[in-house]
Amino acid sequence: MPTSTADSRHVLVVDDEPYIGRIIQLKLEQGPYQVELVHDGRSALERLRSAHRVDLILLDIMLPHASGLDVLAELRRLPHRHETPVIMLTAKGQEADRERAAQLGATDFLTKPFSPKKLLARIDEIFAR
Ligand SMILES: [Mg+2]
Repeated sequence: MPTSTADSRHVLVVDDEPYIGRIIQLKLEQGPYQVELVHDGRSALERLRSAHRVDLILLDIMLPHASGLDVLAELRRLPHRHETPVIMLTAKGQEADRERAAQLGATDFLTKPFSPKKLLARIDEIFAR
């Protein structure tokens, strides 16, 4: 059964491919998680600089306006986002970016294409820690 809105965790999904964002959203909302979807790095940063509630971030690396790495670097400098879990969504062949993200404080990684089920399990696991 879905829990009340007040109990839901808020997940910010940052991905420029609308289809991927939508799939993630549909899956997580079964979770129950409340999902907010943005499609570029600039919008993500605007959201993250605000006091808006965000409990976890799913962050694609290749994004318009500011890359996922730029977003990660900046959000880790924000005192209120310092500890927020960030799962990076990476493509095959982005090993160097992955290493950089780890240095910048990424919590976890998922390589595309991933199953929505696996993503949900990973998120549940992070909140269970
Ligand atoms: Mg992308």
